Amino acid sequence: MQYISTRNKELSVKSAAAIKKGLSEEGGLFVPEEIPALSLVDLKKLVNLSYTERAVYILKKYLTDFLVKELRECAENAYGGGKFSSDSPAPLVNLEKGTNILELWHGPTCAFKDMALQILPHFLTKAMKKTGEDKTVVILVATSGDTGKAALEGFSNVDGTKIIVFYPSEGVSDIQKLQMITQEGNNVCVSGIKGNFDDAQSGVKAIFTDEVANAEFLKNNCVMSSANSINWGRLVPQIVYYVSAYCDMVASGEVEMGDKINICVPTGNFGNILAAYYAMKMGVPVNRLVCASNSNNVLTEFIKTGEYNKNRDFRTTISPSMDILISSNLERLLFDLSGNDDKKVSKWMKDLAEKGNYKVSADIKKKLSKLFWAGCCDDYFTKECIYKTNKTYGYTIDTHTAVAVDVYEQYKTETGDMTPAVIVSTASPFKFNQSVLSALGKDSEANSMDEFALLDLLSNVSGMEIPESLKNLKGAEKRFEGVCEKNELLATVSEFIRK
Ligand SMILES: *Cc1c(COP(=O)(O)O)cnc(C)c1O
Repeated sequence: MQYISTRNKELSVKSAAAIKKGLSEEGGLFVPEEIPALSLVDLKKLVNLSYTERAVYILKKYLTDFLVKELRECAENAYGGGKFSSDSPAPLVNLEKGTNILELWHGPTCAFKDMALQILPHFLTKAMKKTGEDKTVVILVATSGDTGKAALEGFSNVDGTKIIVFYPSEGVSDIQKLQMITQEGNNVCVSGIKGNFDDAQSGVKAIFTDEVANAEFLKNNCVMSSANSINWGRLVPQIVYYVSAYCDMVASGEVEMGDKINICVPTGNFGNILAAYYAMKMGVPVNRLVCASNSNNVLTEFIKTGEYNKNRDFRTTISPSMDILISSNLERLLFDLSGNDDKKVSKWMKDLAEKGNYKVSADIKKKLSKLFWAGCCDDYFTKECIYKTNKTYGYTIDTHTAVAVDVYEQYKTETGDMTPAVIVSTASPFKFNQSVLSALGKDSEANSMDEFALLDLLSNVSGMEIPESLKNLKGAEKRFEGVCEKNELLATVSEFIRK
């Protein structure tokens, strides 16, 4: 199978090259030429398999230039090597009939980014061999908090790679920051930037397409790649857990094989929900995809009106990993909905870059609203949802998951649709302990106690165990305390690769 760029479909590469490059040279994103099919017979076969075997089966449909043996090695290393704290890396928890929570945070950094970033370095090292790459691959990452740590954890000490991460210095939780600045490994670098996630992401994207910078990197025997969800190698492992969740629902009797489900995803860069869309297009029976945003509700508006407009105030919320106004992966959806129209996509993306907005045609708008429903939830209702979910089910969720649970309630109220649902849980509540405790009525403690006391308190209040990796942050050496200006990203990268 070939991969083509959303901004120039004449550009066509194999999956190994798409994963190695991350982003196409003219700024477009790689997508599979066509989306492979998954029949109900195929799905039936997967019901009795382990997560790793389900993964190998789905990955093989997309990464056709990898051998099954190679994909199995990748999947076993990622999901089978004791890196995940639960039996299945992506367990489905039933809250009540029709409401299922897909817990994607049992990996080493306690957020769903591990699902892809534990396997991406394995894909990449194999892709380098396949493409005869002898240079060092430098992974450039812009993070709203969770990607950075997950990428660092995945790439730390991986031969032939270096990784540098930029995070908004005032835009992440204390735990998230601690996780990143204490990262171990001899090939890693972390820097804060004085700006928000969009500044970090735009800065990183600009380096990719900067010819002078790329020439300098080559002189230092380096090439760039990306671990952001613009990299196809990030998206494809995410398709797996939607297929897997459906199989688990069949196995538990929540649905019969072939029955439709709804999927609700707390969304930022549109990567996670896009993977759900691809799962649906492959053949997983899905009725509706529900896109949940926090107060940065640019996607809610887009799905409701067909107009994308990032010209609005950026809000800092208690669900910081969704504080995003430029959702990169929407480009892939638009490419697909427009029937692979690279000219149209290029025009929209140019308008977005130059004017900050674009509007899709009526037929695309129609397709959008048939497939998707969108809603948003502010900090007040996010906290209320954490409180209510805890009281009703004795189940504690983080701030991002709460946005999805709240929006899904809105969806049910507005539509009356009672299709069984999977609501995606993207982070452990311990990662956002201060906001979660404050929602649970422990305001004064949340504002006075240190991070580690808060972990203990949340464990008492929720009855959940503190994840080992967070406990171990106590006393870890702070290695990276630097912060740079928005226009200093390239200088920071150059200094790092010369080391
Ligand atoms: C990254 C992240 C999101 C948003 O995911 P996208 O793929 O960017 O839409 C939601 N919740 C958490 C906890 C995250 O880390």
